[in-house]
Amino acid sequence: MRRPGPWPTAATRPVALLGWPVAHSVSPAMHNAAFREQQLDLVYVALPTRPADLHRVVHALGAVGAVGANVTVPHKETVRPLCDVLSDEAELVGAVNTLVWDADGLRGDNTDAAGLGHVLGEELGIGGPDGAIVLGTGGAARAAVVALGRLGCAVTVAGRRPDAAEELAGLAELAGAAEVDALDSRDEGDVAAAIGRCRLVVNATPLGMAGEELPAPFHRLGPVHVAYDLIYNPPETPFLAAARAAGAEAHHGLGMLVGQAAASYRLWTGQEPPRPVLSAAAAAALFDRPDAGSRSGT
Ligand code: NAP
Repeated sequence: MRRPGPWPTAATRPVALLGWPVAHSVSPAMHNAAFREQQLDLVYVALPTRPADLHRVVHALGAVGAVGANVTVPHKETVRPLCDVLSDEAELVGAVNTLVWDADGLRGDNTDAAGLGHVLGEELGIGGPDGAIVLGTGGAARAAVVALGRLGCAVTVAGRRPDAAEELAGLAELAGAAEVDALDSRDEGDVAAAIGRCRLVVNATPLGMAGEELPAPFHRLGPVHVAYDLIYNPPETPFLAAARAAGAEAHHGLGMLVGQAAASYRLWTGQEPPRPVLSAAAAAALFDRPDAGSRSGT
């Protein structure tokens, strides 16, 4: 807690965002609004960190008393060996997006799956026995299949690299999925049939950031479907526009961004984050400044 008055002060402790690039991130706006709201003597700063500098920057932050950090592209995997302890969640998802300096040293954690799981489960009411299909097999897709597995869904992974889709289906099973399947995303017949069995359809690729369409079956949803695009800028991708036009429920990825931020905030502060403050700050930073958030998941 800090006293009312000028802030930051000489006693304010930093929380950092490490990525390359980070200039477009909305995380400073979100976290500083929440620190201000809860009068915490912390400040969140985005530190553009080249891959070759990651080791030195992490050690310097520990030396100056940083409370924690977010880690984003391209460091989510390369930061792992710099951590003294990895959480079970970071091990499961295979990436670190949150660092916490505590009595045990530097702990690496991951809040992406928890953030998305909160949105899908608590806000959208997704859970077993719903079927869910995820397009993509990258880092965000890994978090998505863990979140869906944990919710007890029947999870299908569609990717253009069938071996990677198989691996993610295995991850969903490990996380608790009721059933799993893996498909080649270029096989229109199989993908259309799987979408027909699903309630939730998730885009976990960057397709749509520059107006690209997804494979054709993803543009043929109906009123029974919930479309979730992990992309949040632009807020309406061709996938979401087609889903909405067909009567499906459609959501962009800002909820996931806020969800992972809320979970990281809890790890750094031990306090329940003011979620409406995080959401409003993210929306204002993004939609008042349309280039914000265009390059970074965090
Ligand atoms: P990533 O690790 O680079 O993975 C991208 C995935 O998309 C890969 O599986 C890639 O396939 C697939 N892909 C790309 N182009 C494709 C195409 N033409 N056809 C089929 N698949 C294609 O990226 P990421 O970190 O997972 O991020 C994915 C998206 O999620 C980005 O738009 C990012 O901004 C968003 N995101 C949002 C949040 C949030 O909080 N809302 C958080 C993280 C990420 P290959 O592996 O075969 O190349």
